[in-house]
Order: sequence, then C-alpha cells, then structure tokens
Amino acid sequence: MLSVVPSPITVRAPSKVNLHLGVGDLRADGFHDLTTVFQALSLSDDLEIAPAGSLAVRVSGEGAAEVPTDRTNLVWKAAVRLAHLAGRAPLVEIAIAKGIPVAGGMAGGSADAAAALVGLNELWDLGLSRDELVAVAAELGSDVPFALHGGTALGTGRGERLLPVLSRNTFHWVLALAKGGLSTPAVFAELDRLRAHGTPPRLGEPQQLMQALAFGDPKQLAPLLGNDLQAAALSLKPELRRTLRAGVNAGALAGLVSGSGPTCAFLCESEESAVSVAAELAGAGVCRSVRTANGPVPGARVLSGETPG
Ligand code: ATP
Repeated sequence: MLSVVPSPITVRAPSKVNLHLGVGDLRADGFHDLTTVFQALSLSDDLEIAPAGSLAVRVSGEGAAEVPTDRTNLVWKAAVRLAHLAGRAPLVEIAIAKGIPVAGGMAGGSADAAAALVGLNELWDLGLSRDELVAVAAELGSDVPFALHGGTALGTGRGERLLPVLSRNTFHWVLALAKGGLSTPAVFAELDRLRAHGTPPRLGEPQQLMQALAFGDPKQLAPLLGNDLQAAALSLKPELRRTLRAGVNAGALAGLVSGSGPTCAFLCESEESAVSVAAELAGAGVCRSVRTANGPVPGARVLSGETPG
C-alpha cells in the first residue's frame, strides 16, 4: 500500500499592539491582572511545517540570531504539547520566517506558538476545535490565545480571557523597531518599583476606546490609546521618548510603546499618512528600522497545504 506523506503547511500569525494596557497590582502568584484591548497587525511571522525524522526548529529573518532553536522555543513547546495530547511523536521540522521583532513587545513568540498549534492540528489531521486549541494556547503563554483569535479583543486575567471587540475600518500603523529588546518580566518589575516609590498614572476602563473602535475613526481613537507599562519601558530605555516625539512630529495621530516595548507604535490617519510618517521616522535616526502595518487582521491561519485526497 502507498503511504501518503502530507505536504508542508504554511501558517501566518499576526503580531499585536495593545491599544489599551491597564496593569493591576502585583498578585500573590507573581502575576498582574491586566485589562487590555489587543489589535492583531499585518506585521507577521510565517511558519512552514513539514514531517521530519525528529523535531527541529529553524529560524530566519528579523532578529533570528536572538531566537533559540532548542526546547526553549515556544514553537518546540507547542509541538511537544500537542503531540502529547494526540498520543504521537512530534516528528516535524518547523521553519520560522520572522517578520515580528524579537523581544519587541509585539508577542512574536506567542504568534509562532499559535501558528504551530494551527499548523500541526492540520498536518496531523487532529480535528481539534478552536476551543480545544485555545486551551492548549493558554498553557503556553498569556498572549498565545490572542494570536489564535486575531482581530480586536478585550483581554482580562493575564490577558488570556478574551472577548471580541467590534472594530469598524482598517487602522494604519507605523512601527519603530528599537535597537535591542526589553524583557517582559523586567518591565513589569520596573513598574512595580515605580509604583512602590510614587504614583505613576493608571489607565481607567477602556469603554470610550471601545466606542471609538466601533465608530472606526482613528482621530477619535488616537487620544484614548494608553499603556500602563509605558512609564516602565521609558524608565529602562529613556531614548524611546525621542522616538515617540519624532513619530508625532512626523504627523502620526498618536504614539505609544507596544506592550512591554521597546517597539513604538504610531496610529496614522490613513495609509498615505503612514507611508509618509514611516519615511520621516526612518530618516530621523531615532530607531533601528521602521515598518508600516494595518489592523485588525485574522489570527493564525493556514496559507497553503494539501490534505491527501
Ligand atoms: P511578550 O509576548 O512577552 O510581549 P515579546 O513580544 O516582547 O514578548 P518575543 O519576541 O515573544 O517578545 O520573545 C521573547 C523571548 O522569548 C525572546 O527573547 C526569545 O528568547 C524567546 N523565544 C522563544 N521562542 C521564541 C520565538 N518563536 N520567537 C521569538 N522569541 C522566542
């Protein structure tokens, strides 16, 4: 009998920006309660997943040298976890083409993990439902469920409990990629330190921001963007203040640090405005490189792949 080797599967997973990131006090378990509104952006990673003799991860593209290819890669963890659930060995090679900056506050590792779950569910023909994949995603990391979900969503708990948010229109962004990354735990620790020594401002609830999203007007949305982690990211990387100022001076409606940083995200009025802000920022010498992106876009999804018929 002929055995059919499944074709490789290509999966695309989006980055995210937190339009609103409210951080509660440090909990006894070491985590913080978050209230966040995520938007999935077109800046993405692509994973090619193919059957192989043993589990292997390869990485190319943006920041590849800083990404581990061993069992500490989130994709490796996702493959081992899903294989265990399916009662099979994780015999796949996963090639990650990174477009999302590493340690940039845009949840690149989480995107890759979500892509691996979607791709392996298809490659191994596991037939797991979206809810079953979300349960595995939440075990891998707090941002992984959103990378599966995509679109625009309200996240609570550690960011893993999601509700879809109505968002009209496409929003246009410019992303300023910084030299070097920031460790997410270090940024949360810095926020705790700042709060122990003073009262940095805290965001309120994101109701108005969600109304602006439903309305679909970037000018209405811009003044409502906010991130409680921004003060901590700026404290650890003061040069980001110049980047934020430069983006607004270049014509962006607003700029903020994305998640735990150090990527800065600028909301623009239109696609044309984003292209012009990006060009001006690139020439201003205030960041390592510049990208344009739009959102919301879908969560991790298969781009190609044949199921043997
Ligand atoms: P967070 O999701 O905490 O906001 P981030 O977006 O700032 O994180 P990531 O790009 O996800 O940052 O990477 C954080 C760290 O995770 C990296 O320094 C890297 O060592 C490790 N890592 C593990 N797997 C991956 C992966 N597939 N892609 C990128 N980094 C990974």
